[in-house]
Amino acid sequence: MAKRILIVEDHNDMMNILKKYLQEYKYEIIEAGTAEIGLEKFHSEHPDLVLMDLMLPGMSGLEAVQRIKNESPDDPYIPIIILTAKNEVNDIVTGLDSGADDYIVKPFHFDELIARIKSALRLKELNELLVKQSKDLEQANREVGQLNKKLRGKNRELRKNIYNLHSLFEVSLELNSILDLHRLVNSILLTLAGQFSSKYSLFLFAPKPEIDRLQLFNSKGYYLDNIAGLFIEKEDPLIHYFAEHNLPAPMKYLNKKIKKSKALTDLTEAGVEIVTPINIKGLTEGIIGLGPRLKDLEYTKSDLEHISILTNIISIAVANASLYYEIEQLSYTDGMTALHNFRYFKLRLKEEIVRHKRNKSGLSLLILDVDNFKNFNDTMGHPAGDEVLKKLAAILKQTVRENDIVARYGGEEFAVILPAVEKDGARILADRIRENIEQTYFEHEEIQPLGKVTVSIGAATLPGDGNDYTTLLNSADTALYAAKNSGRNRVVSYSENLNSK
Ligand code: GH3
Ligand code: MG
Ligand code: MG
Repeated sequence: MAKRILIVEDHNDMMNILKKYLQEYKYEIIEAGTAEIGLEKFHSEHPDLVLMDLMLPGMSGLEAVQRIKNESPDDPYIPIIILTAKNEVNDIVTGLDSGADDYIVKPFHFDELIARIKSALRLKELNELLVKQSKDLEQANREVGQLNKKLRGKNRELRKNIYNLHSLFEVSLELNSILDLHRLVNSILLTLAGQFSSKYSLFLFAPKPEIDRLQLFNSKGYYLDNIAGLFIEKEDPLIHYFAEHNLPAPMKYLNKKIKKSKALTDLTEAGVEIVTPINIKGLTEGIIGLGPRLKDLEYTKSDLEHISILTNIISIAVANASLYYEIEQLSYTDGMTALHNFRYFKLRLKEEIVRHKRNKSGLSLLILDVDNFKNFNDTMGHPAGDEVLKKLAAILKQTVRENDIVARYGGEEFAVILPAVEKDGARILADRIRENIEQTYFEHEEIQPLGKVTVSIGAATLPGDGNDYTTLLNSADTALYAAKNSGRNRVVSYSENLNSK
């Protein structure tokens, strides 16, 4: 498109020459005979360049330059070239100061004028380009800023995901290392409470597939009285629903989907907000219920996904633990201490009683119970408690003779069957065991009420303290009870008068 030049010139001859010459160079000319008209046309015609004569009737060219620059400061940038006579050097300086871009002294060579015009227009283009580029840059800058913000958001999300994955991994390792079902479930509920800050949680479970209802197995944060009788029939519509949708779900959603479910009514009453099924061999053998979150936080979609992954891990761990539990029930060895288990103990004691009756030799039984063990567990944690139990088992094995039978009787209780040992011998051995344990250092034992890990022992001997399996056990138990009552870290041998205490 042709460039348009506004010429402000009062001499007609000059105007005509300029016009004729510049038109040859394909410029379009806008004419103004006075500064006033020039200003007007500058605003209405939007020229690309102005040639301004300085000597004009009325308003001077200088003033016109000043006005133009004041009124439209360089946006868009329109170059102004002033035309002056040789004797107007002062005006040239003032003109340039006022914002004119160049000057040319009359009389001039047209070639020079064309060169100046071209260079001014080139300057204008460059200027426009710069302005545009700087605008583009600004825009790009804004976009980069926004992208940056988005990136920071994504980054945060990613970091959170990595954190979640990491904690899932840790939880998975931790849970799969626990084979004791009670401890496992305890750990599961604590993990869930830790990850989602649920105010309370519960675990319902059918410990064996043939049991037809899920019973309350463990809970956190409840007053037990409120939920003690809670159970869910395997025939409940909720369990049927989970058979097809093996995923955690909000109670709100389930209540809309499932009708006539006693389970849902009970869980709603228990304040449960999220239910997730525990799937073992394709069947829902348990469910976990989570109460509301602390600080009124909602469970988000990503929380549900997280719970879903956790539930898979939990299901595997629970399946392993219940399998282990079943197998242990079938075996004769206690998995943790490698001592005989209760099943073996029962069998052997009955056998020894038969032998005792035949041989008429004495038969003694010791039952040991760790003192204040709940305190140790609660303070140091279950795993530390397990270490104590393992160490106790080792001391027991070392202290008794080859023929004596040491068994883990229950959680923190041990039993020793002493074939062919009379009452006095049993007492001596029991004292030795008690003393050995008292004198052995157990890590962290200083936190115990007695300042150390100790046991109480009840002893009973056949004949005299009973005549069969049950009465012998009862007598040993009664003696143990008496040892506890008289201050712990004691051995008490059964005697008739304990019954009246
Ligand atoms: P007492 O002196 O009257 O025997 O007090 P106690 O605290 O030992 O008695 P209580 O029967 O109330 O607690 C026994 C505790 O033993 C409860 C349980 O946490 C813990 N326990 C039972 N079995 C295990 C086990 O296999 N490992 C661990 N670490 N602790 C167990
Ligand atoms: Mg006990
Ligand atoms: Mg105890």
